[in-house]
Amino acid sequence: MSTELTRNFSIIAHIDHGKTTLSDRLLEFTSTISDRQKQDQLLDAMDLEREKGITIKSHPVAMKYKAKDGKTYNLNLLDTPGHVDFSYEVARSLAACEGAILMIDAAQGVEAQTMANLHLALDQNLLIIPVLNKIDLPAADVDKCKQQLEDILAIPAEDAIPASAKNGIGIEDILEAVVARVPAPVENPDKLLRATVFDSIYDAFRGVVSYVRVFSGSIRKGQRIKLFATGKTYEVKECGVFTPKMTKRDELVAGDVGYFIANMKTADEAKIGDTVTDSTHPCPEALPGYKEIQPMVFSGIYPVDSSDYEALKMAMGKLQINDAAFTFSSESSTALGFGFRCGFLGLLHMEIIQERLRREFNMDVISTYPSVIYQVTKTNGEEEIVDNPTMLPEQQVIQEIREPMVRIFIMIPGDYIGDIMALVMEKRGEVTHTETIDDMRIMLTAELPLAEILIDFNDRMKSMTRGYGSMDYEHCGYRPAKMVKMDIMIASEPVEAFSTIVHRDKAEGYGRALAIRLKDVIPQQLFVVAIQACIGGKIIASERISAMRKNVTAKCYGGDISRKRKLLEKQKKGKEKMKAFGKVNIPQDAFIKVLKSG
Ligand code: GDP
Repeated sequence: MSTELTRNFSIIAHIDHGKTTLSDRLLEFTSTISDRQKQDQLLDAMDLEREKGITIKSHPVAMKYKAKDGKTYNLNLLDTPGHVDFSYEVARSLAACEGAILMIDAAQGVEAQTMANLHLALDQNLLIIPVLNKIDLPAADVDKCKQQLEDILAIPAEDAIPASAKNGIGIEDILEAVVARVPAPVENPDKLLRATVFDSIYDAFRGVVSYVRVFSGSIRKGQRIKLFATGKTYEVKECGVFTPKMTKRDELVAGDVGYFIANMKTADEAKIGDTVTDSTHPCPEALPGYKEIQPMVFSGIYPVDSSDYEALKMAMGKLQINDAAFTFSSESSTALGFGFRCGFLGLLHMEIIQERLRREFNMDVISTYPSVIYQVTKTNGEEEIVDNPTMLPEQQVIQEIREPMVRIFIMIPGDYIGDIMALVMEKRGEVTHTETIDDMRIMLTAELPLAEILIDFNDRMKSMTRGYGSMDYEHCGYRPAKMVKMDIMIASEPVEAFSTIVHRDKAEGYGRALAIRLKDVIPQQLFVVAIQACIGGKIIASERISAMRKNVTAKCYGGDISRKRKLLEKQKKGKEKMKAFGKVNIPQDAFIKVLKSG
């Protein structure tokens, strides 16, 4: 089969601009999916994904479309995750396409995520089809959006297709544009197998299913293939396409998007972005763009009940089979006992994993304050990578610490520019560029430390702009910074879970805030408890919790035994949820409250 009739494309959009609705319409229009199947598909999707309104795993789908030129085309629609934590996956999915539909809500206009996604698509040299969606809304302003396309995105306004995914307007125009404008795949003349893995999932029955785009040559059942990143070879057990169900085919040829199954045990064996080739006739080099996925955010995860350690390890192993971007290794802490140091792509990824441990595996866990990765040069010239505050070398042997930076795009109504600039400054950032988008809005580009946007930046930006602001970011290297380790002592015992690496100039303020929060969540004890924030042994902030006066059972006057027992019983239950630090018991939710409120 020639590649002439194949079109591979994605839809990129800011959240809520209508990507899901348009995908459904395209499937309906091409009769790819019935209502019945649509329901099944919805049921299949992970609950968490639906709750958070994002797609984490990409689900490609093949459609047949009979165009106005009378020919029937094979259209492959590749979905992309909608969050910056997964931007590498987005980039790899886009690399498997020749074109992208850029969807813009005509009532909202260009947003921060539109910019970030467009950058990714242009990096892959994709043909862009701009679609102005929701033209049925009275607030839709097509002309204004066209102006934005030209001014901000440098896309010719006449390329734009007005549409209403909800009401089915413009759907055929979009399909015709995909056929007419997106280039057909071009095969390398040497015809050696080159396919890129853009996602992989773990299926309990079949093992790892790798999603691939074939660029040249073919993948057949029984063929011996090799993966470049690992150098390992496998026999292909099955290959096929998504219609949208996995449907077996004898072979996948150049231009095709589909899946293959070989004897792989974990998702890590089929690395996203890796190149598949034939093991006896390999292509000379891998396709460009592969990167080993690097976790950006680390946190310790400990079982509340230490006897759950093995169960937690098993649960994490199961999650990792499906999610190669999640890393974990054993660590122990004097305060928290045995647990794991875990690496995540970002904060959302961290939340997803923690939530899955709770929901799917019923694990009760405590997590430590999230940390980014610091590069440390020591005075003796040695380099160290530090992902755990407790591992930071002593201050006197550190020559320089470098922290990861992000470039952030913030789209806001013009009225709020002063507030947002102040927020960026407070977070040790610098505004590098401002641009007027339309008579209402401004886009700020700024560079900030990743650590500063981890916890509450987005929430604060949203509340400052009454929900009208939007933001997105990309990583942009490391920069030297005056970072120090701050420890928290509770009743003279260091509590490692609360150790953090902070900027020297912010340490006092941060230490004070943390001490006050801890004072609020740690219950009174029978003695006075001091909470201290320290840098290198020097106390920079302190709070105290006064001693508890009353004996809980005192009210019972010794008479009512059953009531007394009930009270003690209740106390015991409360105790189970406590973690003892020296003499002080800290309730489990204290950790969560303090760590969450950042
Ligand atoms: P996604 O986050 O980009 O996948 O957006 P969805 O497809 O989930 O759409 C977000 C919301 O916009 C939903 O409530 C849709 O019903 C609505 N929506 C999508 N397309 C249109 C449209 O053309 N017109 C109107 N009025 N609403 C739409």
